[in-house]
Amino acid sequence: MSTDRLDDLPILFNRFGLERLTQNQRDKIATVDATLPQTQCGLCDHPEGCLPYAIAMVVDNEPHNKCVPGGQPVSDTIARILDKEPLPARPSPWPVDPNTSRPTEVRAVIREDDCIGCTKCIPACPVDAIIGTGKHMHTIISDLCTGCELCLPPCPVDCIDLVEVPRDPATETVEFRDKEQAHLRYRYHNHLNRVADQMADKTHSKPVTSVIETMIGNASHQSLDIDTSKAKATIAGAKLRTKIKKLEKQLSVRPNDSKQAELDDLKQQLAELGE
Ligand code: SF4
Ligand code: SF4
Ligand code: SF4
Repeated sequence: MSTDRLDDLPILFNRFGLERLTQNQRDKIATVDATLPQTQCGLCDHPEGCLPYAIAMVVDNEPHNKCVPGGQPVSDTIARILDKEPLPARPSPWPVDPNTSRPTEVRAVIREDDCIGCTKCIPACPVDAIIGTGKHMHTIISDLCTGCELCLPPCPVDCIDLVEVPRDPATETVEFRDKEQAHLRYRYHNHLNRVADQMADKTHSKPVTSVIETMIGNASHQSLDIDTSKAKATIAGAKLRTKIKKLEKQLSVRPNDSKQAELDDLKQQLAELGE
């Protein structure tokens, strides 16, 4: 795997000092990153996305089973690359898609009648899949949506739904995945570069509105003192609240012991986060 993918990265990634790593480490990071779905969802506890998780696995020996959308196939592939024992993949609330053996993919859909046009979802989207302007209803370009769920927590009126989209088996090939992931990665880097440019523009008066914007702000001030644990807790708390809301909705329709146990566990996790 070429390490070209580690060059010319957005400023957000400066703090990882990739240029100081050995060639062997860089090769492994590039190979592992290329296997990750590039959903940039942060469910692996890395709010800045897939690349920082790849770095953590190679440099900090972080467990290789934390990519939720990648599921068991991605966990097993990374185990082979890093010469580690297989581990059960971190569970997903979505059922396994028999066409991929990964959790079923989802796409976000805005209930346009309920949308108040507040624009809060736009900066949360890592691939710029949401279009709309202030006071006008917003819409999601579903071909671009990765189902990362990051737009759900900021929505004040809870008008974004997730729908399952089982994968077309014809697209479950190495070539298709490579192309798709390269495209998502490109869009994410464009998004990060655009946000960094906006923040560098002194006439840009928009308040910081997302965790990633805060982190880019810190990076552009060359501060290495980024409070990543707070950022991670904020993301984790938002994710937990979304899952809790979803389960509570399901349970209000039909009681289910295992879902109730899952709900209790999520509430406990939220309490432990102090969120
Ligand atoms: S897809 Fe999400 S969970 Fe998987 S590595 Fe990327 S950011 Fe992490
Ligand atoms: S629209 Fe929402 S779920 Fe889809 S990629 Fe953007 S933030 Fe993620
Ligand atoms: S955050 Fe919700 S209400 Fe606001 S623009 Fe987005 S979808 Fe509409």
